[in-house]
Amino acid sequence: MQDETPPVFRFAPSPNGELHLGHALSALLNHAMARRAGGRFLLRIEDIDRERCTPAFERQIIEDLHWLGIDWDEAPRRQSEHFDDYAAALDALGDAGLLYPAFLSRGEIRAEASRRSEMSGRSWPADPDGAPIYPGSDRELPEEERRALIATGAPFAWRLDMSAATAGLPPLPFVETGGSPDGRLGTFAADPAAWGDVILARRDVPASYHLAVTIDDALQGVTHVVRGRDLFASTSVHRLLQALLGLPTPVYHHHRLVLADDGRKLSKSARDTSLRALRQAGLTPADIRRMVGLDAAEAPPAMMPGAAGEWTEAAATD
Ligand code: GLU
Repeated sequence: MQDETPPVFRFAPSPNGELHLGHALSALLNHAMARRAGGRFLLRIEDIDRERCTPAFERQIIEDLHWLGIDWDEAPRRQSEHFDDYAAALDALGDAGLLYPAFLSRGEIRAEASRRSEMSGRSWPADPDGAPIYPGSDRELPEEERRALIATGAPFAWRLDMSAATAGLPPLPFVETGGSPDGRLGTFAADPAAWGDVILARRDVPASYHLAVTIDDALQGVTHVVRGRDLFASTSVHRLLQALLGLPTPVYHHHRLVLADDGRKLSKSARDTSLRALRQAGLTPADIRRMVGLDAAEAPPAMMPGAAGEWTEAAATD
């Protein structure tokens, strides 16, 4: 029987700065793919970081998206209003014995990593973002010591015990229709171990990006995750969390990145490529489409079942 449920897409910006051309590409692609597929398009505000995210940036995001001609099908979901959902998932992972409180600061992690690398004469492994894999021995701390440390008020992060979490799991596949950083499409096996013991929450914040994004995609029924290729490696962690929490796996489409003139990734602090600055300089939404490589006259990309039964991008421009 054919599945009649319409596909669900989402754009999920963090209101910690101004949207730039890279966000415009992501939002426009998501919106066009959703509309072309007869699907739903959702906006999610990823504001778990209460220190860096502001209502003013959120208002600006909404204004920029409307200016680009993007509309969404229900009120935006704001992550800061759903901490209970993340806390429940965190509890489930804790009850399964897959979490531990990790007390090393970022500086201490770096110092410990270089100490170990000097001792062994080999470089200490880094995660896909280039940060040292967590080297702490907190994983083995006796329960009593843990409690005592927590009672002192020491800051800590809840880390996933990656070996325990992946033990006995079958390979975890996901379908990629946009392209891995080295340009491959098709079915990939997730490699969460490349991240080591990832952070899933902090003492005062019940979710990290990885946990919140995975829970929200499931709770919102997202079937297609369209986002920048810089998040390709993160998908492995999301795929693992789906397996551990019994959540469905969307189709993933990691699109090319819009790079600055010097070839570097755009950043939220580079004001010259912010949508607001470009709009104030007199550019139009059609100019923005052209600048991100989406020709206004061209049909929007669609995700269609390909010959091999997999999803491929037709009439794609990315
Ligand atoms: N909130 C993330 C960002 O602004 C995007 C998350 C996602 O699309 O999975 O980079």
